[in-house]
Amino acid sequence: MRIQINDCSLQLTQGDITQQNVDAIVNAANSQLAGGGGVDGAIHSAGGASIMEETDRRYPDGCETGQAVISSAGNLSCKYVIHTVGPVWNGGLRGESDLLRSAFQNSLTLAFEHHCDSLAFPAISTGVYGYPMDLAAQNSLMTVAEFLREHEAPSLVKFVLFDAGAYGAFSYALENIAAVAINW
Ligand code: ADP
Repeated sequence: MRIQINDCSLQLTQGDITQQNVDAIVNAANSQLAGGGGVDGAIHSAGGASIMEETDRRYPDGCETGQAVISSAGNLSCKYVIHTVGPVWNGGLRGESDLLRSAFQNSLTLAFEHHCDSLAFPAISTGVYGYPMDLAAQNSLMTVAEFLREHEAPSLVKFVLFDAGAYGAFSYALENIAAVAINW
């Protein structure tokens, strides 16, 4: 499924983030940039050790929740990996929504500054960090849609959803956003 926002496409696909043919992919990292399971594990295992060598060297203090940093992509076919740290879900009253927005905005800004024409996101925070999938879908997609409306780049932003449940939740949210975006 995809919607058009000005000259930009916002697209959903089911699959593995490491297998996407885009300029940059986004990693759901932890604040130590220490590597982990899920998306992080898949990216470091497919991309090789050079990615973590670089983030250790350039970002020895890690990355705060809601922020993002960028590295090269080792053996992956993309040019860059953008490492962002989503919030851990704690019931919803601890600023999770703003922090998730901020993780997406800071990742998009880095992609924009590095002239990435295409970018792939996973469903940040919805794995080990426990953010409810339907709430994450609505918040994440709306944040990207607003950024595309304002900046008119990157020309393609893909959400790569790992399973059918995530794809379904994101499709439902994207249909609602399409109804709003038609008036933009
Ligand atoms: P977080 O710690 O931010 O919750 P996770 O990596 O645990 O991050 O999970 C984020 C989402 O990414 C989950 O919905 C998970 O199912 C999904 N996921 C896990 N591996 C991959 C992958 N290789 N490609 C795309 N999505 C993935």
